[in-house]
Amino acid sequence: MLNTRYKPRVCIINLGCPKNQVDAEEILGAFKHRGYRPVHDPENTDILIVNTCAFIRPAEEETLQVLVEAAVLKRQRRIKILIAASCLVSKYGEKKVRAAIPELDYAFPPGKLECLVAAVEKSALGRRVVKPGFSKERNERVLLSSPGTAYLKIAEGCSRKCTFCLIPALRGPLHSRPIDAIVGEAEALAAEGVRELILVAQDITSYGNDLGGRFGLTDLLDRLVKVPSVHWIRLMYVYPDGISAGLIQRLAGQSKLCKYLDMPLQHASRKILRRMGRSGNGDKFLKLIAHLRQQVPGIALRTTLITGFPGESRTEYQELVSFIKQARFDRLGVFPYWREKGTPAATMLGRISAPLRKRRQHELMDLQAGISRQRLVSFVGSKMECLVEEPSGQKHIIARTFRDAPEVDGGIIVTGRARPGEIIQVRVTGSTDHDLTGVIL
Ligand code: SF4
Repeated sequence: MLNTRYKPRVCIINLGCPKNQVDAEEILGAFKHRGYRPVHDPENTDILIVNTCAFIRPAEEETLQVLVEAAVLKRQRRIKILIAASCLVSKYGEKKVRAAIPELDYAFPPGKLECLVAAVEKSALGRRVVKPGFSKERNERVLLSSPGTAYLKIAEGCSRKCTFCLIPALRGPLHSRPIDAIVGEAEALAAEGVRELILVAQDITSYGNDLGGRFGLTDLLDRLVKVPSVHWIRLMYVYPDGISAGLIQRLAGQSKLCKYLDMPLQHASRKILRRMGRSGNGDKFLKLIAHLRQQVPGIALRTTLITGFPGESRTEYQELVSFIKQARFDRLGVFPYWREKGTPAATMLGRISAPLRKRRQHELMDLQAGISRQRLVSFVGSKMECLVEEPSGQKHIIARTFRDAPEVDGGIIVTGRARPGEIIQVRVTGSTDHDLTGVIL
């Protein structure tokens, strides 16, 4: 039996998307609430949780590698409890995952996280009686982002039907969180010193659609901009056909809303978009982009695109190349298509070879590097507000401007000293393909 003053250590390795990260932060928060000690070193912990990702094969392979390494720690008795959580478990089921990694004590799909703490409480550690069912709306989180920043998950799951995507199968249909719970969490995070809230879901523009349309994303934003001491509100995962006039108006008029939109488009060819089960086309997207830039001057636009989707002949690929040249995105992520069993696209004819899928990805990223370089040079000499992420050596810090989302975009390397989480004023002195440099004012 453990010494009662001893606080069992719990560590989580989070893989995948920001939505998964929020789950991981809530798990750590629930353990902390019950007297466990969150730690960041997987080799020095009692409980190790791997918060898995499995939405495409490369993510699944990374997850399995992490689980195999964690299993070694368990066999060496350096950890007491090993748990797999989230998407790998919903993809294959608890039994198959535990059969693949016999060292696992437990495996929980996304929907069952609230049982996870209860299971540990009943295990060998068995220190305390678990209160039945910890409520997710308590929102105690141990943040894993850099200081001053937090993701705010406004909904779970997705009710759209993109033919390449497993997420609706892994995470279920759209489930919007109650607006008061989200605002309450934002207030709690702000009280802890969070200055930037990053709104995430599979598609934030669908927020509220499953709640009878009584309220939507703009109603939520009208509440969030009133949360004191929040400085930036950033919108990620915006579906193009969900961008309303009301949203554009708020982006233009609300100073707390970052003039930034992450708007995954996936492709520009009408033929390929229809095969993907998505709406729109290149011309329509270009009109939307022009409208956004006209209504919200200085807005930074990010998108993600897929290369090598079944049926993407040279013609459709050239449509994508020409679209990128015309759209001139500020930020772009390009991913080669992965065939995922169980998705409609997996049985489609017209497959593109892996080397060609990758070559097209690299060609588009090279094209984007040139576009980004040209866009960034226009900021040299300007004054920009930045959120400090971390120190870099003795004399520099890494920070982000309103144009930079964490982890996926570039940033700004600033000469000077400031604390992580601080908002500073910077004079931009230089630029590269994806980053800026500057000095603190
Ligand atoms: S919007 Fe499409 S790509 Fe995004 S999570 Fe939903 S189904 Fe998947």
